[in-house]
Amino acid sequence: MRAGFPDFRLGSVLATSFTATLTERQGNAVERIPTPQRLVDWLAVNGLAVESCTTAQLERARELRESIHAAATAAAIRDALPASAVQVINDCSIQGRAAAILTPEGNRQWRLSCVEDALGVIAADAISIIAGERDGKLALCASPTCRAAFFDTSQSRTRKWCDMNTCGNRQKKARFNANQRKHTRG
Ligand SMILES: [Zn+2]
Repeated sequence: MRAGFPDFRLGSVLATSFTATLTERQGNAVERIPTPQRLVDWLAVNGLAVESCTTAQLERARELRESIHAAATAAAIRDALPASAVQVINDCSIQGRAAAILTPEGNRQWRLSCVEDALGVIAADAISIIAGERDGKLALCASPTCRAAFFDTSQSRTRKWCDMNTCGNRQKKARFNANQRKHTRG
């Protein structure tokens, strides 16, 4: 991790890990890819290594990110998908030229050469979860300062928070503190 930048939130779903590079959207938002190099770092951590990124490519990535967030949020509350968001997701998917490669060890690797290729992979991942192709359910984080769209793959489909270690923990602590105050006053 590079010093001085917020850490990444790592999840198992590529598209929502990507939207989680901006957190606390309804509170004091934290931008986790503030520079082109940080996007390069994020892509490397997520198996989408590219050599370089320009400011324009970072802006495009953020545009895709917010479009996925908007479309996934609409899908989670069963609202109509915003047309402009759908357009950006589709454009990114079409522009990408990444190829899936099967390694001798039986793993999938992405062969790509630029940020646009990586965005294409992310856009395709978003399409598969928004289209309901994968086992899971889109939901919104219960934290009022977050409200991130996340992909619930729990068996009961009752997950409440985008991330147990951050939003989940904070809510639990807030409830604990409220109870403590009640007890000390009582
Ligand atoms: Zn959250």
